[in-house]
Amino acid sequence: TIAVIGGLDADLIMIASRIPGPGESLLANEYIEALGGKGANSAIAAYRTCHKRPVQDNDGAVGDLPLADDGIEVKMIGAVGDDGYGAKFVAELNKNGVDTSGIVTVPDTRSSVCFVMVEHPTRENRCLFTLCATATWKKEHFRNAEQLGGGTRPDVVVAQMEITKDVVEAMIETAGRAGIEFCLNAAPATPIGECFYRHLTHLLVNESEAAIMSGREGGEVNEDSWPIIAQEFLNRGVKNVVITLGARGTFYANADGSFHCPAYEVAVKDTTGAGDTFTGAYSSDYLRQKAKGAWDIRSAVIRANKAAAMTIRSVGAQNGIPWSDEIGRFDAP
Ligand code: ADP
Repeated sequence: TIAVIGGLDADLIMIASRIPGPGESLLANEYIEALGGKGANSAIAAYRTCHKRPVQDNDGAVGDLPLADDGIEVKMIGAVGDDGYGAKFVAELNKNGVDTSGIVTVPDTRSSVCFVMVEHPTRENRCLFTLCATATWKKEHFRNAEQLGGGTRPDVVVAQMEITKDVVEAMIETAGRAGIEFCLNAAPATPIGECFYRHLTHLLVNESEAAIMSGREGGEVNEDSWPIIAQEFLNRGVKNVVITLGARGTFYANADGSFHCPAYEVAVKDTTGAGDTFTGAYSSDYLRQKAKGAWDIRSAVIRANKAAAMTIRSVGAQNGIPWSDEIGRFDAP
């Protein structure tokens, strides 16, 4: 089982000709409500990328979800409020095969939301988000292996940082003590204490997160510094380091060496959630390979690059996340 511990949020997206100035009200062209949150996106990606797309009936309803291709189960550990969104998150995750028994409803609290204002011509966006229910998590909630997996011990924990740093550090420490592998997607990035890195089986960061986690300025992360930064993380004890580079693909490193893997060229519609899909696809492939007694980081990175490229061909973080059979058929130009 993969336990994905992280945020679920409702993205309230307004698209307008421009972003309003201070004190100004502006009529938007379009309003979209989409379910997101880095945790939820990654959980859906982890499940879909190791299962075939279920058959839909004529009403478009998804039939029985397939048996796990590789016996991999994905469980979401999250917190929602007792507002209307909580049930929607659970329904959407269930539709995607994700076990939601690790999601708790916090009374008298709201679910996390993210207000997104998109300027149509440039596609530039501005976001304001709240943690709400997730902010109620304390270190004490993650003191043993069972708590990390929402009641049962997981094989791998995947976490992002839409949670306070103290809580993330407590999870890493607990996993380290219990011998549970930990995949940290440090997004949004906050540097963690030096002593926690040695418990990370995988550290996944994009370029700006690599800068923050390694104490650099954004501009200092470039082709020359990728191997240096990756080596610094390896020296701190991380087993596998992955730096995602947007349209330039991925740089990755472990004890076998360091490599650059180019991205797949696709017609990009919306890059929201590219990193989350990458994280989900990479971590489920890790568990799948591990079950067979193997670990080839290169093939996991190639597969995750494909899944992330396929996702950004459609609008919304979750819509375009591919199922395993679709990744198999993906033929980038
Ligand atoms: P994040 O979404 O966390 O900022 P990145 O932008 O680095 O992360 O994207 C994650 C991965 O998604 C990349 O490593 C790459 O595989 C894929 N990706 C992102 N943008 C593009 C793009 N424009 N074309 C092809 N693949 C992309």
